Amino acid sequence: MIKVLVKGYGTIGKRGAWALRRQSDLTLYGVVKRRPDYSAILAVKSGIDVYVPGEEELRAFEESGVRVAGLLDDALGRVDAVVDATPGGVGRKYKGLYVKHGVKAVFQGGEAPDVAQVSFNPLCNYSEALGKDFIRVVSCNTTALLRLICSLNRYFTVDRVRAVIVRRGADPKEVRRGPINAIVLNPPKLPSHHGVDVKTVLPWLDIQTAAFAVPTTLMHTHFIQVFLKEGVTREDVVRVLEGSPRIVLVGAEALGVSSTAELAEVIRDMGRARGDMYELAVWEESVTVIDGREVMLTQSVHQESIVVPENVDALRAALSIEKDGERSINITDTALGLVGGWLLWSS
Ligand code: NAD
Repeated sequence: MIKVLVKGYGTIGKRGAWALRRQSDLTLYGVVKRRPDYSAILAVKSGIDVYVPGEEELRAFEESGVRVAGLLDDALGRVDAVVDATPGGVGRKYKGLYVKHGVKAVFQGGEAPDVAQVSFNPLCNYSEALGKDFIRVVSCNTTALLRLICSLNRYFTVDRVRAVIVRRGADPKEVRRGPINAIVLNPPKLPSHHGVDVKTVLPWLDIQTAAFAVPTTLMHTHFIQVFLKEGVTREDVVRVLEGSPRIVLVGAEALGVSSTAELAEVIRDMGRARGDMYELAVWEESVTVIDGREVMLTQSVHQESIVVPENVDALRAALSIEKDGERSINITDTALGLVGGWLLWSS
């Protein structure tokens, strides 16, 4: 069994650890925490071994009485791979240690692209990541854009993309970022970095993006225009989205929801752990085709969880457990209970 260590047990790390415990071909070996806080206590209570980066943290855990399994260095000697979910820039500092121990590492979108051999989305470039030692799973917004673009590009020919990203101001737990009362130009100078990040996976694509941060913590929402080389109908586009993994169509009228707050409530009512929505939510009524070649739509992104399935696939690709991207996606999604097609009508 392949053993994986999760380093950084915050928003992404704790979800990554949860997801790993649900895979039959990957095992969560343990997590690395710096502080013996509530999440360390809950991890230990749920049977997860908690490691610490160094002696100082070890003493803090011992003094607080939270059980600690050992040092990061010891754990790295016993695992096959690490999911590094520390804040942007921290993962790079540990790369040398991963090299020293010969373990593969999956980094997150907060790291600069050159931390890894490949920036990754399994719907776009799974085969490029096969056997790589260092893979970067791109950020939540980039993952959402790539899921849509690569799903459409599978059946049509995407020529160029323009997108406006309305970003959540902070994650729900990030009290230090608020209160906010503004629409922040993110950044004022256009284009925003999101399109540039998409090009780390699809270098051939003509894409430009703008982004605004707003005072909400629940989800991001994108308005997207995809220009195609051939003529399509609205029905063609809906059919493709309906059949694409990790995308779910949300019927605003049918469900009686037309906001991220209501969508988040639907997901909580569905009983999803932590209220997570791994799927990219495309608002069905928004899907519009103009003159056959311009597809417009609105999509919402649960930033805290959308990259979790991609992290699992990145491990399978790095470790060459599964050579076929579609099969990996299917294994991950079945284990995590993702739905496809139409939200609620297909689950
Ligand atoms: P977070 O702050 O919620 O979690 C990071 C955790 O790492 C914290 O618990 C912190 O204490 C811990 N940490 C810091 N240094 C450490 C070290 N040396 N050893 C062990 N643990 C350490 O951050 P996050 O939101 O989970 O983001 C992690 C990465 O995921 C970033 O690259 C971010 O850009 C990316 N990402 C975040 C989101 C999101 O919406 N939160 C979405 C997609 C990608």
